[in-house]
Order: sequence, then C-alpha cells, then structure tokens
Amino acid sequence: MEIPGMIFIVVGVIVSLVSKRAGMDLFFYTGAGFILWGIIKIAKNSLTKKLLGSSKIEPKNEYKRYNNNQQQPDNVVSCSKCGLRHYSSANYCQNCGTKLK
Ligand SMILES: [Zn+2]
Repeated sequence: MEIPGMIFIVVGVIVSLVSKRAGMDLFFYTGAGFILWGIIKIAKNSLTKKLLGSSKIEPKNEYKRYNNNQQQPDNVVSCSKCGLRHYSSANYCQNCGTKLK
C-alpha cells in the first residue's frame, strides 16, 4: 500500500520541530523535504484521482454503447409485434402472446 502524502507532511513537521529545538539544521531540512514531498504526493494523488475519475466514466459509456449496438445473440428471439426479447426456447411472447416461431 502506498504511504499517503499526509503522513510525510506530519513526519516532516515533527522532524523539523524536533531538530530545530535540538539545533540540527540537517534534520530540519530533511523534515522540510518531507513536508514538500508530502505536498507533492497529495497534489499528484489528487491529479491522478481526477484523471481516473474522468476515465471511470468512459468505460461505462463504452459499455453502454456496446450493449446498445450489440447484435442479438443466437439464442434470443424478438417478438415481431412488441419487440420483447425471449429465449429461442419460448414459443409465445410473454408480453402480447404472439407466436414467436
Ligand atoms: Zn410480443
């Protein structure tokens, strides 16, 4: 699992604060780097989420379109009167009673 950017920021803040108190400049900059990294991570995540969100709709549409254009399977017959679909094993339309065969 990916580490959320928020954790980087929290860790970065803690490291910065602690190292600043202790007077360790190197660790302070490391903490600052963590904060920056966390912000970048969050920004990246929200960007990919946006991209994923928009692409999530597309497969649905694709699926719908596929279904609409789908050719009638061999084992299905449509009623000549009302258009209701039945399995080819059916002899009469369940909706209007028209003979299917
Ligand atoms: Zn019918």
